[in-house]
Amino acid sequence: MTTEAKNKRTAPSSDLLDRFAAIAGEANTVRDAGQMDAYLTELRHLYTGRAALVLRPGSTQEVSKILELANETGTAVVPQGGNTGLVGGQIPFDGGDEIIVSLSRMNAIRAIDPEGNTMTLDAGVILERAQAAADQVGRLFPLSLASEGSCQIGGNLATNAGGTAMLAYGNARDMVLGLEVVLADGRIWNGLRALRKDNTGYDLKNLFIGSEGTLGIITGAVLKLFPKPAEYATAFAGLSNLEDAARFFGLARQAAGGLMTAFEIIPRTGIEMVLRHGDLVRDPLETPHDWYVLIELSGREASGACGECLENLLGDALEGKIIRDAALASSLAQRNDFWRLRELMSEVQRLEGGSIKHDVSVPVARIPEFITRANDLVQAMVPGARPVPFGHYGDGNIHYNVSQPAKMDKDVFMAQWDAIAAGVHEIVLDLEGSISAEHGIGRMKREILKKVKSEVELDMMRQIKDLLDPKGILNPGKVL
Ligand code: ZN
Repeated sequence: MTTEAKNKRTAPSSDLLDRFAAIAGEANTVRDAGQMDAYLTELRHLYTGRAALVLRPGSTQEVSKILELANETGTAVVPQGGNTGLVGGQIPFDGGDEIIVSLSRMNAIRAIDPEGNTMTLDAGVILERAQAAADQVGRLFPLSLASEGSCQIGGNLATNAGGTAMLAYGNARDMVLGLEVVLADGRIWNGLRALRKDNTGYDLKNLFIGSEGTLGIITGAVLKLFPKPAEYATAFAGLSNLEDAARFFGLARQAAGGLMTAFEIIPRTGIEMVLRHGDLVRDPLETPHDWYVLIELSGREASGACGECLENLLGDALEGKIIRDAALASSLAQRNDFWRLRELMSEVQRLEGGSIKHDVSVPVARIPEFITRANDLVQAMVPGARPVPFGHYGDGNIHYNVSQPAKMDKDVFMAQWDAIAAGVHEIVLDLEGSISAEHGIGRMKREILKKVKSEVELDMMRQIKDLLDPKGILNPGKVL
């Protein structure tokens, strides 16, 4: 991992910790090191840290008071949602002087307006609950990602999450109309507007979205809702190479247009891992293929148009030998089975030993070139390593993960992280791509960010940070 910032702060005194605890209430304060564990590391244990205190405020007012005191006393604060982030942005460093502010108790859905297609909620609402609340009023909240059962809206927005609905609905940023943010000095910005059009000066909400808790703490949001699709058509297709995936995507774009809501790619290595470790999963097609595409169309009317369109598309692609085989989901259960194969991808890689991960994007047309070059590089560096490039083909976003060779020592393999990442990122930059497509910068990519952004861009980012957080108390050492 990259070198991490040394924290120059002194640990808060016990008297100061008592003052913080008094704001959230002792019952909502975690002081015991053992009970803090769940907040101090993430699922893969790539990042662990220590904290002086975990506070679980129950209202925006309490968050405001916490930041006011933190700002006054120069106490560092790490905002945390569902703790599912993959770049360490939500985990404190190991100085033990930072305070974690967990938003999990702030989980009210404040208002829902099906006519206006908006939903106003607290930052701590779990994504799955937000989806369900929209569903109950006959609407769709389309943000969807593997961790939706535990990630929170505040974290989704703070990291500008992407996920599998990006192709049709955009990323988290595109689903927000308004925000409520507590600033570093404790002031509350009520930007909870539900307007579709609002050209009154700078778009401040978009500064906070994707800022990973370094500019303010998002405490509430007005989200966009969409009509609920009345029908889905979902298929798994088998392909023999990446060039065919590119041709298939082009054909699908042409044939399905706006109906296409997902186009995800999975290599055979990934399917084999899912088959080895997943419960109740089946090989999606009769014979194995080097590459798979999970494609989904959805429509607002139950007219059968999606199924018909997808069937024709698959027929044309088979005839043109672009795809080798395909299975069209014939029931909701089969659709869920197909998506389960995709959603288990991250989890099963954890069970295959060490995994070196990259969340990158390149122009869609250059994905085959990217994966081919990255695979060659990885094989040359660690013979026997198993690349598992998968993800959001339609968005140009590939999770270029590499599992360790079966018989290699995990630590020996993981020690190659920086070297492999440097090589993979070099290819990404050569193809005019991004070193972080949807996971953010956090702790993981802070050093790399300095190398890939221009001085002008870094200057603007630093000046914005200084302006909004002059004492540097908000998630210090993350992003910048
Ligand atoms: Zn993803």
